[in-house]
Amino acid sequence: MLNEYGDIRFTAETTLGKLAKWLRILGFDTVCQAGVSGERFINSTGEDRILLTRTKKVQSRGKGHKLVFIKSNDPLEQVREVLQALGVGAADTRLFSRCTRCNILTRPVDKDTVRSRVPDYVWETNPTFQICSRCRRIYWPGSHIKRSNEIIEHFFST
Ligand SMILES: [Zn+2]
Repeated sequence: MLNEYGDIRFTAETTLGKLAKWLRILGFDTVCQAGVSGERFINSTGEDRILLTRTKKVQSRGKGHKLVFIKSNDPLEQVREVLQALGVGAADTRLFSRCTRCNILTRPVDKDTVRSRVPDYVWETNPTFQICSRCRRIYWPGSHIKRSNEIIEHFFST
């Protein structure tokens, strides 16, 4: 079942870094390796991952892989392309559950321990926080991306 959360995993081409970051914000496991392209890109990943590419050559040679060919130059439109191609709805996402840098799941962290690490108003207005165990970055709804909720609504508007 593609639409069930957890079963959709991506490998994005190196030129699609911003798209990869957004997919992670939405909660999807998305690998994006710098400098890996063409045949090497196809071979760098197992068939359990959906390839995201803007390269015609990859599109024609990526047989055996599920693949979404990205047309737009705009990262936000690229996200829409992916979601529409796979029939992913808002209910399939888990916002801010994954580190946008490390691509691993974040875990809940005791609010008191992040007191000195986030702005006061953020600490006061957010009941819960998440942390990446690898890079120690702290996440809360709306963190790091301005107007993220509006942008996310845009992804799922028709
Ligand atoms: Zn991290």
